Amino acid sequence: MSVRVVARIRPLLEKEHGKDVIVRADSVEEGKPLTIVKIPSPKNESEEFSFAFNGVYEQSTTQEELFTAEVAPHIKALFQGLDVTIFAYGVTGTGKTHTMRGGLKLAERGVIPRLLSNVFRRGKKIAKDTDGDTTVQVALSYYEIYNDKVFDLLEPPEKRTPSGLPLREKDGKTIVVGLSERSCEDLKDFEKLYIEANNNRVTASTKLNAHSSRSHAILRVKVTQTTGDMVRESTASAIDLAGSEDNRRTDNGKERLIESAAINKSLFVLSQCIDAISRGDKRIPYRESKMTRILSLGQNNGITIMILNLAPMRSYHLDTLSSLNVSSRAKRIEVREIENEIVFKQPPRTNSSGSTNMQRQPLRP
Ligand code: ADP
Ligand code: MG
Repeated sequence: MSVRVVARIRPLLEKEHGKDVIVRADSVEEGKPLTIVKIPSPKNESEEFSFAFNGVYEQSTTQEELFTAEVAPHIKALFQGLDVTIFAYGVTGTGKTHTMRGGLKLAERGVIPRLLSNVFRRGKKIAKDTDGDTTVQVALSYYEIYNDKVFDLLEPPEKRTPSGLPLREKDGKTIVVGLSERSCEDLKDFEKLYIEANNNRVTASTKLNAHSSRSHAILRVKVTQTTGDMVRESTASAIDLAGSEDNRRTDNGKERLIESAAINKSLFVLSQCIDAISRGDKRIPYRESKMTRILSLGQNNGITIMILNLAPMRSYHLDTLSSLNVSSRAKRIEVREIENEIVFKQPPRTNSSGSTNMQRQPLRP
């Protein structure tokens, strides 16, 4: 299975009314679903470029419509043991945070709260349907990558070490060493944690907008299903990437330039990984940035959905083109759809370490 890549064009904001709109959605043939984004060539306005995606969402698409079409269908797979990754890519101001986090009003809620709400609902249903034989636990981790350093957002900013948390490879997955995890009972629990964590992000930086457009925010939702001594674990990751604009063109101070270099580097490495994978190269340069190590495009098991956020105005022209170029190539990435192994809990042995032994068994014979 490939990475599913969809584009979402945001509407004009109130203050943008009357602005020149140059990005539009189209279909291959009349009556077919929207799969094409059209944008004029910057050199010759009469010429139009077309980029094909797995799906294109118009300005009028609601949060609910996007979630129902792109995320809801994968919740079942998550509970079957597949990992699901959803990430938003695009220029700052195009709607990544709106898509992932969204607003506080019910209708404005983004992918993340809707995902959690669905996970809790399904978890409760499983417990009920199995008469409590299967229990479902949900635990959250939330961190950001800033200047190629990993910071835990569930910890107060004072506890941050300047060098950030290290990464390690374990069972073919990249894990953040020392990352905290909080168990969550329901949506209320989640919202409290999430708001608190987002506040940690604010207090750790002086200018939220500048900061959030320069860091990658990663939420991990770990779902653990336990039936007797069988434990099945899977993870949904929701990622709000840093802005993909080319900061070299903006008038940045010295400090900002260092930041931009690190952010540009990770997004540049991401585009290199996408290219290498779509060319079928043996060597994929994952390891060249922490973000790409964590994202492990095409390496992770399960389902990956990339949402390209677009603003339709002319003022974004060149940055929009470059993000269209990167993301339309990502479609060719293969993702191995492999369920996570079931782990059997062993009765605690009285060995010297006193730790519980876990034995891995393949899920399918
Ligand atoms: P990004 O995170 O990519 O920098 P934001 O999510 O902050 O962008 O969006 C920029 C602005 O546009 C915000 O004011 C946001 O509320 C608004 N916006 C983005 N997408 C939509 C949408 N689909 N509908 C309405 N407003 C949107
Ligand atoms: Mg944002």
